[in-house]
Amino acid sequence: MISGATLVAGVVGNPIAHSMSPALHNSWLAAAGIDGVYVPFRVTPERFGDFVVALRGASVTGLNVTLPFKGQALELADRASDRASMAGAANVLVFQADGTIFADNTDGLGLLAAFAEQAPGFDPTAGPVAILGAGGGARGAAAAFTAAGCPQVRIVNRTQAKAQAITDVLGGEAFGLHRAAVAFEGVIAVVNATSAGLAGEGDLDVPLEATPSGAVVMDMVYKPLVTPFLARARALERRTVDGLAMLIGQAVPSFEAFYGRPPPREADVRALALKILERS
Ligand code: NDP
Repeated sequence: MISGATLVAGVVGNPIAHSMSPALHNSWLAAAGIDGVYVPFRVTPERFGDFVVALRGASVTGLNVTLPFKGQALELADRASDRASMAGAANVLVFQADGTIFADNTDGLGLLAAFAEQAPGFDPTAGPVAILGAGGGARGAAAAFTAAGCPQVRIVNRTQAKAQAITDVLGGEAFGLHRAAVAFEGVIAVVNATSAGLAGEGDLDVPLEATPSGAVVMDMVYKPLVTPFLARARALERRTVDGLAMLIGQAVPSFEAFYGRPPPREADVRALALKILERS
């Protein structure tokens, strides 16, 4: 039931029809009995700025931001959290009552929450981590591990210059993809933050066997839930963390930012998301 007082939030991206965020947030809203609704917004790249600015001081409480707008979202905001500034990207915009926009990045929190949930005892301070990819996801992961006290973040990317651009800002070491085996030496975790492995795309050809046997392997891609990358890690008996846990992990603090309270624990949004993945 939509009322005159319904709180409105949503997710903006292009494309957006595949987004699972509306299902997660609306499920939490219903379980919490909050008079709120969470809707998808598809916006063309040339209209993104106008769209966001037009919501200043309006009754939309906030937006999640997804591809390809995370960088632009940060630039449009009046204020940003340290973690959004460090990541150079925002996945959350909160519209304040005074008409200003606050940007945050909860992707890193989601990543660490996913490790805590699916690799209990994982300690980000215990050794170096390798991140594959150098896009927004990789940058967010690098910022999160660095902020969590990881002693060295290694960025491994097909285009090495992009990896270097991240380590220039955050520290750590940059590698080309062909040197992944060197980057994997002694790591406590490897995170795939490339889009390789997405439904229909090929596996990322990196030598996971070069990781120590205790390393945790994570894939940000969650469609399929067990990507070829995670399947190879499992075959090598590495502990694995899936991208769905991260997706839900980043949505928790987003919900709190939009509706002023954490989502209810009793709503099993992972089961809901798995059903949606099965159908799609
Ligand atoms: P970007 O498009 O910004 O970056 C993609 C990266 O993948 C680039 O570094 C690119 O390398 C690399 N890449 C693409 N294809 C290949 C390939 N075939 N072989 C090697 N490298 C490749 O994407 P994002 O960083 O925003 O997102 C990355 C992935 O993480 C996406 O699949 C996204 O859906 C997922 N994601 C999941 C989240 C979650 O909550 N689970 C949150 C954020 C992202 P190059 O620089 O050389 O082009």
